[in-house]
Amino acid sequence: MIYSMEKTCTSVWNCCLEIIKDNIPAQSFKTWFEPIKALRLDGNVLTIQVPSLFFYEWLEEHYVGLLRKTVKKQLGDAGRLEYNIVVEKSSKSMAPYTTNMPSNGNGAEGKRQSIPVPVTINKDIKNPFVIPGLKKLQVDPQLNQNYTFDNFIEGECNRLARSAGFAVAQKPGGTSFNPLMIYGGVGLGKTHLAQAIGNEVKRNLPDKLVIYVSCEKFCQQFVDSLKNNTINDFVNFYQAMDVIIMDDVHNFAGKERTQDIFFHIFNHLHQSGKQVILTSDKAPKDLAGLEERLLSRFKWGLSADMQVPDLETRMAILKKKMYADGINLPEEVVEYVAHNIDNNVRELEGAMVSLLAQATLNKKDIDLGLAKSMLRNFIKNTQKEISIDYIQKLVCEYFEVPVDMVKSKTRKREIVQARQISMYLAKNHTKTSLKSIGAFFGGRDHSTVIYACQTVEDLIDTDKTFKSYVQDIQKKLKMG
Ligand code: ADP
Ligand code: MG
Repeated sequence: MIYSMEKTCTSVWNCCLEIIKDNIPAQSFKTWFEPIKALRLDGNVLTIQVPSLFFYEWLEEHYVGLLRKTVKKQLGDAGRLEYNIVVEKSSKSMAPYTTNMPSNGNGAEGKRQSIPVPVTINKDIKNPFVIPGLKKLQVDPQLNQNYTFDNFIEGECNRLARSAGFAVAQKPGGTSFNPLMIYGGVGLGKTHLAQAIGNEVKRNLPDKLVIYVSCEKFCQQFVDSLKNNTINDFVNFYQAMDVIIMDDVHNFAGKERTQDIFFHIFNHLHQSGKQVILTSDKAPKDLAGLEERLLSRFKWGLSADMQVPDLETRMAILKKKMYADGINLPEEVVEYVAHNIDNNVRELEGAMVSLLAQATLNKKDIDLGLAKSMLRNFIKNTQKEISIDYIQKLVCEYFEVPVDMVKSKTRKREIVQARQISMYLAKNHTKTSLKSIGAFFGGRDHSTVIYACQTVEDLIDTDKTFKSYVQDIQKKLKMG
């Protein structure tokens, strides 16, 4: 039998598609291969038309091996693939033009040529990522106006992150802090700072396109655009930005496809000198479930950590917030709250809001008593009884003596003083029996404890300095 040997671009491409279809998931096939048109067959060069540059890049990155194999199977070893890329234009009068790119055929990332991508605008498609009009692009940056540098308190804990953020905000894309990665625990002000950068850019450079997006939202948008076949618009939207702020990138963990697409967008933005700002709850090196190539990008710029603010900074944050709300708090209340909530600024604020609510509802002034009774619900371990260990630690810290010494036989004056005060506090602030207290101090008997307590009481009555020591320690004991 004689078969017709004539091959057309369509027949060759259809044969390729048959093979490809069997080798990749149906959804991927639909997304990435169905929109392709076979255009030409010149000898052993097959030209296919793809709807955008992004499409081309994606195919080359993910399917180049498969494409090469199938093309060679159809056209022999000399078979080659070329792309014809449609570059859409905003103006209706201008027909889309196309540009040709060879397939690099070996999947080597570095070989790919980079050509500038005009923003794709297609007015007929209704989806959230299509940017209307080319001249003056307007995008809602999704920023919370309340997060500014003005109301971000600087402290040792956030100095590097804040000053790097400020530098970036003055010159987005123009510093070596690109990407700027802000990382640290929950409630330490990462989102606040990242948004402050966005707001500052908008204030100084209103024409810059800034977008704030949480990683979670980005992942959801990606899934939706896969479903709706709007991947191109999704990518073009983000690639058109001057500043992208991506919050909580640790949420990329395990989401490989979204990481892929972000990798793409990241590269595009970074290459064109656009600013990328990221936040994360861990340092890049500790981020699990993220692809190495994405992580290595995250390390390109500056990673700045946010620590737990110290007492002064916590107090300053509280005061600033209260001042902004027109509320004047007694210093001791501010100190009490800031002292007791010491690991998280968000909790600090939460406590303050509850305090205000209590005061308003009960028509009471905010004083230390109210703060204490209210904070009980807030502070973990409040119910925990004061332990003798804790008393010993506090007293020894106060007098700068080693804890071991108060448990030893030493009769050195300052050790005896620390030991006796500790016993006195143990008797008055714990429910422990005198005998048990003695046991905590190197196995002394109960009469020693009684004697210590009497001595301390006498000294409190007669020695002002001594009295102030004991009061100081007692205050710390109640606070902590
Ligand atoms: P994260 O994103 O790190 O979990 P947020 O940025 O949401 O934390 O901060 C939690 C709350 O604490 C926000 O209301 C924020 O305004 C406030 N906050 C954190 N750090 C500061 C700071 N240095 N100055 C003022 N407010 C702060
Ligand atoms: Mg946050």
